[in-house]
Amino acid sequence: MSLATSLTPCPLYIAGEWLTPRDLATTPVFNPSTGDVIAACPAGGPTEVNAAVEAAHAAFPAWRDTPAVERARVFFRYRQLVEENFDLLCRTVSREHGKTLGEARGSVYRGLENIEYACGVPTLLFGDTLGNLARGVDCETLLQPLGVCVGITPFNFPAMVPLWMFPLALACGNTFVLKPSEKVPLTAVLLVELLEKAGLPKGVLNLVHGGRPAVDALLTHPKVRAISFVGSTPIAKYIYETGTKNGKRVQANGGAKNYLVIMPDADIAKTVEALSTAAFGCAGERCMAGSTAITVGSAAERLLPDLIAAARAIKVGRTDQPAPATQPDMGPVITAAHRDRVLSLLASGETEGAKIIADGRGVKIPDAPGGYYVGATIVDQVAASMTLAREEVFGPVLNVMRMDDLDRAIELTNASAYGNGAAIFTNSGSAAREFKHRVKAGMVGINIGVPATMAMFPFTGWDDSFYGDLHIQGKEAVQFYTQQKVITTKWFGGTAGDVWRK
Ligand code: NAD
Repeated sequence: MSLATSLTPCPLYIAGEWLTPRDLATTPVFNPSTGDVIAACPAGGPTEVNAAVEAAHAAFPAWRDTPAVERARVFFRYRQLVEENFDLLCRTVSREHGKTLGEARGSVYRGLENIEYACGVPTLLFGDTLGNLARGVDCETLLQPLGVCVGITPFNFPAMVPLWMFPLALACGNTFVLKPSEKVPLTAVLLVELLEKAGLPKGVLNLVHGGRPAVDALLTHPKVRAISFVGSTPIAKYIYETGTKNGKRVQANGGAKNYLVIMPDADIAKTVEALSTAAFGCAGERCMAGSTAITVGSAAERLLPDLIAAARAIKVGRTDQPAPATQPDMGPVITAAHRDRVLSLLASGETEGAKIIADGRGVKIPDAPGGYYVGATIVDQVAASMTLAREEVFGPVLNVMRMDDLDRAIELTNASAYGNGAAIFTNSGSAAREFKHRVKAGMVGINIGVPATMAMFPFTGWDDSFYGDLHIQGKEAVQFYTQQKVITTKWFGGTAGDVWRK
């Protein structure tokens, strides 16, 4: 295994075979640190999708009938292989996405924990029983797999988000087709290679690439039973509507705008550190990024000087050089078009009256002039009506809004169309309690800037951050990837089965 260095199209993996279709159009994969094209992603469509779904469908009966302990053993081996190839995976994430190596390591660890969770599948699949439900009658539930499941993933976590999906879906006895983001297909190839090495039978996991034509073929294929999606809100809504209209079970995570409320009694040094990581970590390209700081009362005066200093101290640079000593604090954003969108949202904020108080727009990296860089930026005096306040920026930009009291801060947070994350920074138990009960968000942090959940808890976005009923991760995900069967049993003969009298 090695990092891709040529423009050979990324392979597809169908029915246990690696295929390099040279007749398909391709889209370029960039190294965001330099702007160089590093790979080509084939634009698959109905033909490739149909082959992958048919392979998954054919592999389903044997995999479903493989005992859960044997399926789990594949994931114990997979866990080991991911750990042994950890550095390669992290370098690949950094190279095609632009995260720093430290950020890549954190995200691959979060993915690894999802593999570990899937290793527990024999107990995760326990059902319920009630003996003697009626005289001589017993009742039990079985959790059975659905069949062919699909994962469609975004660019911003090339390893973690696919690992949210296929390990648990497969451990539950389903087969799977993965369609990663066409901007970051190289990590997905590595993840699939490692699972093949772990001994997964042919056809159980398949990999296709492409954009809308591939997605549409997956959404409408009659043999697909369930779809897990993570990406932007408009596409999440489209996936949910089209998938459910075609009879699929769908969980679709969308975008976000997360509010961080800072009370006047907050520990300022710790809050600055947490806000800086929440807003600028992963160059702001995460759905749990803290994108708006709402300061309450005098908190602004106490917080902003140190926060501005922290933002200005963030070293931006290329992340594609493996030596840890050369790693910056923050890498580039994903593409030139995305950098330009971030800059144009900042310009719209200024036009509408906001003030940029830490300005990362002019950042230049001398040895990588073609990279897609925006430095850490703080925008003060943002009003709720501004485009910058309403739209997900997905870049290293922190808006500041000032409120007189906690009630107003909660009202402002709850006015958002999204509902992914929210956090409060305070030393007051009663303020924290008020916030956690009243705030309209699925993941809440108390003195935690990025309250993203780990593998054993569901990733509970609300409102326009999630379409569906059962979330990704944790017990909800086990429910999503299984269907319940309730068996009611009565045996004739003997003493009519009334065991309790014996
Ligand atoms: P995106 O919506 O552009 O793409 C996501 C996936 O959808 C990709 O696989 C892409 O190929 C596919 N896609 C894109 N356009 C499509 C179309 N018109 N029809 C059908 N499929 C299409 O998202 P992105 O830019 O890759 O990722 C960033 C977004 O993902 C942000 O909005 C971020 O908040 C969100 N995100 C959400 C979560 C969460 O858990 N809520 C986690 C990570 C990222």
